[in-house]
Amino acid sequence: MEKRQELYAGKAKSVFTTDDPDLMVLEFRDDTSAFDGKKMEQLDRKGMVNNKFNAFIMQKLADAGIPTHFVKLVSDNESVVKRLEMMPVECVVRNIAAGSLVRRLGVEEGMELTPPTFELFLKNDALGDPMVNESLVETFGWAKPDQLARAKELTFKVNEVLKKMFADAGMLLVDYKLEFGIFNGEVVLGDEFSPDGCRVWDKETREKMDKDRFRQGLGGVIEAYEEVGRRLGIQF
Ligand code: UDP
Repeated sequence: MEKRQELYAGKAKSVFTTDDPDLMVLEFRDDTSAFDGKKMEQLDRKGMVNNKFNAFIMQKLADAGIPTHFVKLVSDNESVVKRLEMMPVECVVRNIAAGSLVRRLGVEEGMELTPPTFELFLKNDALGDPMVNESLVETFGWAKPDQLARAKELTFKVNEVLKKMFADAGMLLVDYKLEFGIFNGEVVLGDEFSPDGCRVWDKETREKMDKDRFRQGLGGVIEAYEEVGRRLGIQF
């Protein structure tokens, strides 16, 4: 398989076509952004750490029967993935209140959410990724109702697998964001799963081990990502 031209450069990853129309190369860069790209920095080793972290998690999810776009690691900061037709929505599940939920509803950070919540956001930086719902997704044709229902079902299935995996390694999976797409008519998990797109706290101290360290200027960002990975058994 041969890497060809750059198709798209996002805030932290670039996507390349290959000689196979069904496959793409995802390049994980060291770029780190927050607040819709208003805060940007390069963090040494981040591309490599997130690439390997994502490969490990995607493999675990595939083992649990969740269809993912991940095919294989091809270098320290590149992976081959299936080319999906992406739904322009983000699916967020929360086990513990944090971030925008706390700001929006005025609830206390750290409150346990039972049952876990499910939220949808439109991927649109210019609009600041506004919150949407199932009705809006259907009306505007961002996904078909059955596809969205499947994405929601898979998002909760991911929670069952990962909540336990993180808990067994002494961590709390607070919340996370997933993106889905369609491959041969099937709803498939796309994008990435890394500490850039989830919140992880130490189970005992509740210390933040995810991108909130970058958002809040706490330092030790990549060291924390690597510690999360190390506890899960990832070799960087
Ligand atoms: N998230 C993300 N990309 C986004 C927005 C959110 O990966 O564009 C992740 C974020 O890291 C967190 C979860 O989704 O794990 C919920 O984010 P929240 O709605 O609390 O927004 P934030 O506080 O990050 O603005």
